[in-house]
Amino acid sequence: MSSGFRWNLADSGEPGLFGMDELLVPEIGTGRMSGLEFLHVTAKQILNHVPSGSRAPSNWTINVYRGCSHGCSYCFARPTHEYLGLNIGEDFDSKIVVKINAVDKLRAELADPRWQGEAVAMGTNTDPYQRAEAKYKLTRGVLEALTEHANPFSILTKSPLVTRDLDVLIEAAKATDVSVNFSIATLDERVWRATEPGSPNPRRRIDAMAQLSAAGIKTGALMAPILPGMSDGAAQLREVVAAIAGAGGRLLGIAPLHLRPGLREHFLTWLSTHDPELHADYLRRYANTSYAPERYLEQLYARAGLPRRSRNPPTR
Ligand code: SF4
Repeated sequence: MSSGFRWNLADSGEPGLFGMDELLVPEIGTGRMSGLEFLHVTAKQILNHVPSGSRAPSNWTINVYRGCSHGCSYCFARPTHEYLGLNIGEDFDSKIVVKINAVDKLRAELADPRWQGEAVAMGTNTDPYQRAEAKYKLTRGVLEALTEHANPFSILTKSPLVTRDLDVLIEAAKATDVSVNFSIATLDERVWRATEPGSPNPRRRIDAMAQLSAAGIKTGALMAPILPGMSDGAAQLREVVAAIAGAGGRLLGIAPLHLRPGLREHFLTWLSTHDPELHADYLRRYANTSYAPERYLEQLYARAGLPRRSRNPPTR
C-alpha cells in the first residue's frame, strides 16, 4: 500500500467520489502491467457533472481511472493526483486509481429516471484506454452500458486499444451519436518518446483511426498540445494534418501547450533536464501567463496550412 495515502474529499473536484472506507486492497501489476500499482476503489458516482465554464466537450464526463500510465510530461490532469495525497510525477504515471464498480454504478445511474440522456465525454482527465484497461475492461463495460441506453458519447484517447471494442462501437453508432477521437500532437518519434513515454506510437493511433473510419465510426484527432520548439515546425504539423485526413479523420483543432498552475512546475522541471536551452525559452514565453499568445496559435494554423479556427479546441 502507498505510504502516506489519503483521500481529501473537500478538494477532489469530484464531490463524493470516494470515501475513506471505499479504498479496497491495492494490487501490484505483474507481467505487462509491471511497474504499475492499482488502487481499487468503489466510486459513489460515475457520471460526473462538469462545472460551468469548463472546456470539456460535454456537460457530463466519465473517468473510470485516475492517473495515467501514458505518462505525458505535459498532462494537465497531473495535479488531480495531489488531491489523493499522491505526487503529480511518478505516482500519477504508476499509481492508477481503478473505480472497480464503475459499470454497475453507471447502469444504476443511467436507469435513474432523473437522468436525461445527455452526451457523455470520456478521456477528459485520464486516458480510458491506458494500460489498465487491457486488464480491467471497465471502459468496454461503460460503452456497453451506454449503448444499452442509446446514450450518446465521445471518447478521446492516445491508444489503439480502442479498436478492441469496435464491435461495441459499431452497435453504439447504430443506436446513437458516437465519436472516437485521438490525441495526436506529433508523429515525430523523437518528440513522442520524450514527451509521451508510456503511450503507444502515434502512427498506431493513425492506423486505429483508419480502422474505425473504415467501419463507419465517426473519428477525428486533436493536435494538442503543440510544444514550441519541439513539435511546431511546418513540416511536422503538415505531416500530422495529412495523416489524419488520410485516415479518414476530422481535424478537431490545434492547441498549443497550456501551462496551468500545478502542471507548470512539473513540466518546467522536466524540460530543464531534457533541454536546458529550450527551458530558458519557455521561461520567457510563459513568464507571466499559462497560455501561449493568440499570435502563436495563428502561426500554428498558418504553418499547418489551415485556415484559423475561431475557437480553441479543448485539450487534455
Ligand atoms: S495527456 Fe492524456 S494520455 Fe497523456 S498522461 Fe494525461 S491523461 Fe494520459
